[in-house]
Amino acid sequence: MYFPKLEDIKIHDELNEYTVKRLDEWLGSKPTRYLEYINPLEFITEINISRELGLTLFSVAADENNFEGDPFFQIKYIVNCPHCKEHFKTYYSNEDIPTSFVECEEEGCSSFIPAEHPERVYIFFKTKERPIVKKSKEKKVYKKAPTGYLTRADEDAREHFEFRRRYWKYEEEKDK
Ligand SMILES: [Zn+2]
Repeated sequence: MYFPKLEDIKIHDELNEYTVKRLDEWLGSKPTRYLEYINPLEFITEINISRELGLTLFSVAADENNFEGDPFFQIKYIVNCPHCKEHFKTYYSNEDIPTSFVECEEEGCSSFIPAEHPERVYIFFKTKERPIVKKSKEKKVYKKAPTGYLTRADEDAREHFEFRRRYWKYEEEKDK
């Protein structure tokens, strides 16, 4: 495997080994800089799996409960200004996205409330690990399909990356 850490979720109830292996191969085929800005919709389209399974996979791989130590993926929320569309800031937890006015730093632009513009909050993933490159194996080339981006305005995304996580936290509290 390119990313041995993915071994930890191969046996997860909601996933199957095949899908986890495809994720490993797919990430292994990407340039290193892409591993900072992984778009789950590209994986879903290029591998041709259901949106539900794809988002579940990313959600499971970003959940610290499924790993010893850090989770495989870190979720990135990239906030763009709703007025000028320029990049404003990147957050690593949805709870950090400001719910009060912030000032856009672009000249002549104005203020906005990031949490009220979910369509401008882009969801990306990054891996902490770098792939172990096996030189003997030829890298698979995936057909690049046009896809959009996942944003917080997407109900499925909120379901998988916010509500689910909140539910897990709640379950943990209950266990104590
Ligand atoms: Zn602006």
